[in-house]
Parts: sequence; structure tokens; C-alpha cells
Amino acid sequence: MRNLLDTSLCSKFEPTFNNRECTFYQYPEDSNMNIISGVCGFCKQPGAYRCVADVTRHVPLSHSSIGDFLTCHRLYYLKKILGIEMRPPFFGNPLKAGKLWDILKQKHLGGNVEIKKTIEEYEIPPMIVAKVRALYHAYKELEIEVDLGYELQAKVDMEYEVILSPSSFIPSISINAEKVNLWADRRDAKSDNRTWMFPVQVAGFYDRKYATYFTEDKLSGRPEFYLDPFYIQSQMGTYFLADPNLEYVIMEVVQFPQQRENKKTEEGPDEMYNRVYGDILSRPSKYFIGYDKQKKRYGKKLYKGEFNLEEIKRRYQQVVLEILSCRYNDNFYKNFKACGNTYGHPCEFQKICMNENISDTMFRTREK
Ligand code: SF4
Repeated sequence: MRNLLDTSLCSKFEPTFNNRECTFYQYPEDSNMNIISGVCGFCKQPGAYRCVADVTRHVPLSHSSIGDFLTCHRLYYLKKILGIEMRPPFFGNPLKAGKLWDILKQKHLGGNVEIKKTIEEYEIPPMIVAKVRALYHAYKELEIEVDLGYELQAKVDMEYEVILSPSSFIPSISINAEKVNLWADRRDAKSDNRTWMFPVQVAGFYDRKYATYFTEDKLSGRPEFYLDPFYIQSQMGTYFLADPNLEYVIMEVVQFPQQRENKKTEEGPDEMYNRVYGDILSRPSKYFIGYDKQKKRYGKKLYKGEFNLEEIKRRYQQVVLEILSCRYNDNFYKNFKACGNTYGHPCEFQKICMNENISDTMFRTREK
């Protein structure tokens, strides 16, 4: 056990532009080794992740990170600032099954992934492996195809301007008698310099990307959730925003087999595999949603117009300010209402929040 929430060792350095006093501060760099302006850096201390003292720069966003923040500010802080994550063997079975399906499909489509290593690393139970294998072998038996010309795991990389109105509360400090805005890096010339601006980065990955559309793979016990634009607008809207050439997404959603173990006959993984495999082949459209035997495809097409992109963009621009405000006030408060149900499951960090310390057996710090 260790108390990862104790940040008293950190020097709360004076926030000044381009002049950080803390010797542990690591400037964020892009792949060309250029310092990225306006982005909060990492901490060089062993076991630490992002700098907890820098309240001036934003952390790049993603649809999942703002989902975490909106669910519970503490959840965001634990994941994205302290960089805590559950060790894979402790994940719930639905997540393990989804991971295995993802890896199998990537491998099938030419991805550089290791199936055996994933099963071992995540300690995926044999019954889950049997069900996902049955799905994959049925997928091959049905000779399901995908359009060629895709890029696997293509990167989402976009930048928005956040424009602050003159009346916004934004903390500032005085440097050489000049008042400097802490969160923004320049003034907006179009508005007579009355407003401040700064860029915010949004990152992510497409499962499969083509010139004018993309596809998303999902394995779920409740596939209907992924077929309604209302519930998936944050992720899909982000992906549409990142590339204006994209016209539609194909949601390739697969029903996770719901067969229960037959305890009376002491059914093992092989029997489960056979039972599930036979059922999938006898009614493939129950499992591969939108299955078309002639076209050898499955999935549901959703068009860009079904998503409110402007609303999603404005949400990023607002949430980045709210995150900066929590950091400035050092107050990522807990939302107790979410503890029992984050994304349909109990929050994975309940033990940390209850005890204010962290088990090294269950959790680890993300790699920088
Ligand atoms: S356990 Fe509750 S308070 Fe803690 S991170 Fe999860 S949702 Fe937030």
C-alpha cells in the first residue's frame, strides 16, 4: 500500500510562462522533439505521472477523458493527472472479452498484436476465451469481409481554439508589471485584443479508417447501446470532427454470447465453445448485428448528420476550462452518486477513494 495522493513532496512552483522552477518538471514534446506549447508536462519523479502543480497548461483531451471528468472529477484526476490504472487481471470480464475481440479482429486485419500474450496479461478466464474464440471462428466460417484500403488504429489528432470572453473568470498573475493570463497564451487580434485564446488538443484512435468513412468495433452484452447516435455521440462526433471528409461510420457491433455455464453437467470451455459456435452459425444476425449474407458484411451505418458536432466541439471548449479550474483550485471533488455506476459498472477506484491509499497489487501508474 502507498499513499499516492500525497503530493506534499511537490514544489508548488510559481507559475510563470516558460520558466518552471521545479527540477522534476518534464516539458511535453512531440515526436520531432519540439516542446509543445501550452500542454501540461509529466513529472520525472519515479511513480509519478503528470505534474500535479502546473495549473497553467491543459492536458490533451479525448472523448473518454472528458467522459471521465463529467462522470466524476476525482475519477479524471486519478486517471489523467495521477495516471493510475487498474492492472489488467483485475478488469471485469466484459472488458476482458472486449479486449480479446479487439485483438483478434486487429490480428485478422493485419495488425501487429499478440493474442496469447494478451490472454496471459489480462488473465482472461477460459470460459470467456471460449466464447470469444467461437465468435471469431464463426466470423471466419461465415467469410465475413471488410472493404480494403483501410488504416488500422488511425490517429485522431485535432486542435481547437478556446476563446475566452472578456468577462470570463480566468486567473492571472503580474509579470514585469504586465497582467498575464494563466490559461491562455495569446490575445485574439480579431476582437481588439479584448479576448484571450489558447489551443486545446484532442486525441484518439479510429478502429479502421477509410477516405470517407470509418468503422468502430464493439463487443457488448447490450449492443443496442452502440447503435443509437444519442449514446455514442461523444466518441463518434469527435471522430467526425477530426476529419471533415468523413461522411459516415459503420458500427460493427457484436452481441457477446449470453450462454450460462451448465453447472449440472460440469460443462468445460470446449463444450461452451461448441455450444456457442453452433448457435452463432444457426442465427448469425443475432450476434453480428446487421449481418448481410449476400454482401458478407455486418454493421449499422450512421451518418454524420445524425450527430450534433457543434455541440460536441463547444463541450470540449468548456470542459477544458472546468478542468483547469479544478486544477487551479486543487479541488477535483468526488461525485459519490457515480461510485456505484460508472459506465454501467461500479467504479474501479472505489477502494482508493474509500481508503485514500492505493494497493500496488491492484493498481499501477501509467507509463509516461
Ligand atoms: S469511487 Fe466514486 S468518488 Fe472515487 S473516483 Fe470513482 S466515482 Fe469518483
